[in-house]
Amino acid sequence: MDSVKAKKYLGQHFLKDESIARRIAESLSEDVGNVLEIGPGMGVLTKYVLEQKRPNFWVIEIDSESVEYLQTHYPDLSNRICFGDFLRIDLSTLFAAEKFAVIGNFPYNISSQILFKVFDNRNRIPEVVGMFQKEVAERVAAKPGSKIYGILSVLLSVYYDIEYLFTVSEHVFNPPPKVKSAVIRLKRNGVERLECDEKLFVQVVKAGFNQRRKTLRNALKALNISLDNVPDSYLQARAEQLSSQDFVALTSILQNETIEIK
Ligand code: SAH
Repeated sequence: MDSVKAKKYLGQHFLKDESIARRIAESLSEDVGNVLEIGPGMGVLTKYVLEQKRPNFWVIEIDSESVEYLQTHYPDLSNRICFGDFLRIDLSTLFAAEKFAVIGNFPYNISSQILFKVFDNRNRIPEVVGMFQKEVAERVAAKPGSKIYGILSVLLSVYYDIEYLFTVSEHVFNPPPKVKSAVIRLKRNGVERLECDEKLFVQVVKAGFNQRRKTLRNALKALNISLDNVPDSYLQARAEQLSSQDFVALTSILQNETIEIK
């Protein structure tokens, strides 16, 4: 009966073009060491990463048919295939305390969730090379002042240098997605800790962009923190006008405010 049951939507668009698969794998820096591939599918990208002989290379795949296919066709990888959900897995079960880069032609339906998980694990993920739908790739790589600049652009750009590498046509996938795709690379910068409360920083960025058409004076009301000491130059601006460094500075001001209130 299982075979007639409809499969849960898994964002499966398999890459047909070997040269693009190779190019994605080659975009991963040599010095990053361990690698985790999310959603290997039938391994088009996997085989090029395998050639790189990484010290520890895991793949995580949620679809049992793909897992079976990989086990048969990539015996070298067989004890490094994790049948599971990237969004749920505790990453230390694969890499203990070691760092690892992330690569993939990602399932587009969970792009943002993958990136938020990368953000949460930023101190163990030195690099991400991945294919997303073009619009998501552009948003992540967007700079202040543009309409598509948003929460993920700010959060990720404080810790990562982000590069838009290349655009990929929908015709190189089976089945073709409705949208174009793009490959981006995120490389961890040297920032270990922010000079402000990191939890509050995330809240400030989210509050600012949740009402992105409003000035920060209005958008930040949702935080319930006094804005008395925040200069007008911030309050009159909209979130999309602030660089990630501006958000760090703004958070430092707000954080003193919370301490004063207590
Ligand atoms: N990398 C392959 C497949 C890309 S399609 C290629 O380029 O051809 C996306 C893949 O992600 C599918 O194989 C899908 O089964 C898998 N996937 C979807 N959601 C997942 C999740 N939460 N965790 C791990 N893999 C997932």
